[in-house]
Amino acid sequence: MKMTSYWLDTATPFASGAQGGPQGTADVAVVGAGFTGLSAALALARKGVKVVVLEADRVAGAASGRNGGMCNNGFAQDYAGMCARLGTERANMLYRAFDAGVDLVETIVAREGIDCHFGRVGKLKLAAKPEHYDKIARSQELLAREVDPQTRMVPRSEMRAEIGSDRYFGGMLYEKSANMHMGMFGQGLAEAAARHGAIIHEHNPLVRIRRTAGQAHELTTPHGSVRASQVLLATGTSATGPLGWFRRRIVPVGAYLIATEPLSTEQLDRLTPRRRNTTDTRHFVNYFRTSPDNRLIFGGRARFSGRSDPSADAKSGIILRRSMVEVFPELADARIDYCWGGMVDMTRDRLPRAGERDGLFYSMGYSGHGTHMATYMGAIMAEVLDGRADLNPWRDFDWPAIPGHFGKPWFLPFVGAYYRFKDLVE
Ligand SMILES: Cc1cc2nc3c(=O)[nH]c(=O)nc-3n(C[C@H](O)[C@H](O)[C@H](O)COP(=O)(O)OP(=O)(O)OC[C@H]3O[C@@H](n4cnc5c(N)ncnc54)[C@H](O)[C@@H]3O)c2cc1C
Repeated sequence: MKMTSYWLDTATPFASGAQGGPQGTADVAVVGAGFTGLSAALALARKGVKVVVLEADRVAGAASGRNGGMCNNGFAQDYAGMCARLGTERANMLYRAFDAGVDLVETIVAREGIDCHFGRVGKLKLAAKPEHYDKIARSQELLAREVDPQTRMVPRSEMRAEIGSDRYFGGMLYEKSANMHMGMFGQGLAEAAARHGAIIHEHNPLVRIRRTAGQAHELTTPHGSVRASQVLLATGTSATGPLGWFRRRIVPVGAYLIATEPLSTEQLDRLTPRRRNTTDTRHFVNYFRTSPDNRLIFGGRARFSGRSDPSADAKSGIILRRSMVEVFPELADARIDYCWGGMVDMTRDRLPRAGERDGLFYSMGYSGHGTHMATYMGAIMAEVLDGRADLNPWRDFDWPAIPGHFGKPWFLPFVGAYYRFKDLVE
């Protein structure tokens, strides 16, 4: 079994990076080469802006290359709850932004010729308890009326057409949701940005940033410095560099995945006949999809941990395998070829944050729902840097520090215990 991301292991690594460290000047410096930073770099370079990207590690090597592989439209949260909290008009505006994110991924893939198996497979959200079905049905009725008629309920009696398991009590289908090979998308996005003129420095962590004369910024890595008129921080759950203000507002939460050996087409036709993105309604959520080479990729929260390393990933992999066999008993003997994890950039309300602070622009905090939103926000931030702050859907959200959080999430085991209890009683 490989303790590495299936997406990164099966994509050709980015090959058009700049050698050595940054130097000279740029119009814009982007920090972080995940989907946010790469999409911003691509959009800026297409406008003729001189853009330099500083990446601590490798292109799409963090969350963007380690995720569940889904571009699910809609909120991660319950739609009715979001309307109650934000008002229907605002909730609908944000809902449409997630839709626009999936649309933008599709557009970039086609326009830049990125071979990443993008497909509108739909997302199925499965009710883990009978009462969950009634709750999501009420929400879906409102959702279809207000903003997304391309959703519908699948009652338990029709579940066999969707999934080869009796564990669930029906579900809700979001037809606009998509999936793709995340490693191939990340690599293709970086190659496209470089082709349009972006200069991408891998293995160049930002270690210092300071204001210089004329409102410019000097960004320093261990290998060089660059001066830029504008800076976009696209650093996700960054553990390195002068980003303490953000670290007090983002909780890094581990999330984990396993991938089986390639399965036969007949077996997948039984287990997941429509090859949907599938999730469930529990707080300790499980989710799965298939890979282009017929594996089942099965992920979930498994446990609440602030770590992803071979030991944490392996522990979670054992839990995930057990969950997978509970859903699909016939996979009890399936070999697990990959096990990996990554850090999710959680905000307190699980909604992203983007804007400007102290002359630095930022976009992050997608809270596990960001493959498409990060791509979208990269392109939006390219416009925001150009004076179009009005296009940023998250512009009016305040962002106080999380009390008691100074960068290391000591409280996660307690949060985990709380949600485990909620899964039992709700
Ligand atoms: C296990 C897992 C499963 C997920 N599943 C899904 C899913 O199925 N669907 C979905 O929509 N979302 C999912 N997500 C979330 C999604 O992957 C992220 O929201 C998205 O990729 C965020 O992109 P990003 O560019 O903002 O951040 P990242 O991809 O984390 O990129 C940030 C980059 O910044 C770099 N960096 C940090 N600090 C510095 C520094 N000081 N100097 C230079 N560079 C720096 C990092 O090395 C990194 O490459 C999942 C996330 C995880 C971890």
